[in-house]
Amino acid sequence: MVAFRWEKFLLWLLLAAGLAVGVGQVAAWVGGYIRPVGVFPLLVGSLLGGMLVGAIRLLDLAHRPSVLVGVVMAGLLCAASEHWGCYLQAHREYERLAAEWEIKTRGLAALSGQMAQAIQQQYPQPPGSWGQYLAEQVERGRRIGPWLLQGRWVWISWLAEAGLALAAAAVLVWTTLRWPYCTGCESWYRTIRQGRLLPKDLARWAEVLEIPLRQPEVPGRFRAQFRLLQCLGQCTAGRLELVWETADGHLQTWQAELAPPQREKLDALCQPSSGEQHPPSQPPPSAS
Ligand SMILES: [Zn+2]
Repeated sequence: MVAFRWEKFLLWLLLAAGLAVGVGQVAAWVGGYIRPVGVFPLLVGSLLGGMLVGAIRLLDLAHRPSVLVGVVMAGLLCAASEHWGCYLQAHREYERLAAEWEIKTRGLAALSGQMAQAIQQQYPQPPGSWGQYLAEQVERGRRIGPWLLQGRWVWISWLAEAGLALAAAAVLVWTTLRWPYCTGCESWYRTIRQGRLLPKDLARWAEVLEIPLRQPEVPGRFRAQFRLLQCLGQCTAGRLELVWETADGHLQTWQAELAPPQREKLDALCQPSSGEQHPPSQPPPSAS
């Protein structure tokens, strides 16, 4: 059971909020150029999800309710930030148009008062407040493919897009939560060693570590990799993951928590050149 930690929760909310606002602004900017229907929110959600995963790993946060609150908040903030970004763009566009209009009509306005009044009436309208801008967007409608959405359908389309982005982010984050986590020192497992294995290495590892493996039949096509994971506090002997390809091209995996004697044997296997005995090594944690 992962314990709830206030300090982690607050830091997580702050980080998630900052990332969500940033991603929303980027989405508003990119969306001004290209915005494929349906795909765009998924891309935005994936970007947000990737960043949230980074934050979760950074904070060693695995408390699921905390993660859930942060992801939902980030999804809503990201959507709001995107609309806010579009509003800011509309403001900049208005300022550009107003400046252009000013230059074009300067000479004409000086001719007569009536002319100046007519020009004033044609002056570009500012977008008003954020609420007014959104209301105007709803009224004007939104073109998606051959359809022109209007009224509440615009709101529904916005909600659907926010939902898609949130779902994409949530899938990425939830996949991350399946990563091994140590409740003892409250940290995610880090990859501390990884590499490729030759067929004879894999066979030897299987024998020494007593792993039930079938021998690969075609060594020519053989590929195998190993990964050793451990928590920051090194509370356990670590977790070994093996991936190899069988003769018929299927990928096989094996993974398990190692017992301390197995880890000692593994450390000895990783240093085959020297004959002397090695104590259980404490390799520096490397970024995975
Ligand atoms: Zn630990």
